[in-house]
Amino acid sequence: GQVADEQIVAAYDDMDAIDDLGRRTDVVTYEFENIAIASVERLERNGCAVAPGSDVLRITQNRLLEKTFLRSHGVPVAEFAAVVSPQDTDEACRTVGFPMVIKTCSGGYDGKGQWRVSDAAGARRALSEAKGAELICEAFVPFEREISVVATRNAADRVVTYPPGENQHDGGILAMTIAPARVSEAVASRARAMTETIARNLEIVGTFCVEYFLTKDGELLVNEIAPRPHNSGHYTMNATVCSQYEQHIRAICALPLSTPQLIRNAVMMNILGAGQGDQLCGVDELLRDPSVVLHIYGKRHAVARRKMGHFTMLTADPIDESAIERARTTHALLGWKPAAN
Ligand code: AMP
Repeated sequence: GQVADEQIVAAYDDMDAIDDLGRRTDVVTYEFENIAIASVERLERNGCAVAPGSDVLRITQNRLLEKTFLRSHGVPVAEFAAVVSPQDTDEACRTVGFPMVIKTCSGGYDGKGQWRVSDAAGARRALSEAKGAELICEAFVPFEREISVVATRNAADRVVTYPPGENQHDGGILAMTIAPARVSEAVASRARAMTETIARNLEIVGTFCVEYFLTKDGELLVNEIAPRPHNSGHYTMNATVCSQYEQHIRAICALPLSTPQLIRNAVMMNILGAGQGDQLCGVDELLRDPSVVLHIYGKRHAVARRKMGHFTMLTADPIDESAIERARTTHALLGWKPAAN
């Protein structure tokens, strides 16, 4: 909206607006997957190019379909079971075991719609709190690290993958990405190869991201697929030759993809709202650090835990604990206050 030549503001399932969008657009894409699938299907029926298409959206919108898809292509995932009725809960408790994470199959993101459960009573409580939503039970994975791979596939089946990023979450929301992830070469190339396999089987066109749990034994389990440029790939904007966004545009416009090249190591930190005002303070101090670039998204209200921007700290040195500490100290310079009128 801040940079587009034209803007249509309407509900995701407003079919008149969708038709209007299709008429005015050569290729449609999306940057958020919890949208009405009927709208994407309608654009496709009207002959409008949509990338990624509705098949990708259908699978990645539903955790159960997604995990089933992954398993059917031999990609490792944590043990899981569908839950619809209280009887299913008891069955899932037996097959998945405790502790487990119960999640809504659709509509959840940033840790929303999730319950960590350690006994059958907790599972039944989650079921009643979910108020009839379709659920999936997943084994809790005692991971050593969470990593993610951002990748782009084009219609000619070329797939490029970025170096894995290492993600740290806070309350289900991404707080920090370290790039490259502090994992062995072997783990990094296995993660990239698995991501490539997923890209080809999903037949996705565009940039997407696969999130992995890395266990102590070096096993990689897929947590989820995001069919769009991803927060954990924000480091690519400043640390690589061609960002995840440019790759996406290249892919959906049938332009050649760029081979991902890391030109700097990076620590990316999200800037979340605090519910204490809409004016960000500490920016001057932060910008005095020549290794830091700041991105502010221009959202009006800094509601608590809302993603308002991010900064990336760039360095030629490997990312160690002191670099991470420096990023945290930089982050602590920032705060929110009510905007002056
Ligand atoms: P999700 O929305 O599925 O990406 O979950 C958000 C975060 O919750 C993940 O990045 C993990 O930190 C945590 N989480 C989700 N599922 C599991 C699981 N099965 N085992 C351990 N941690 C999990």
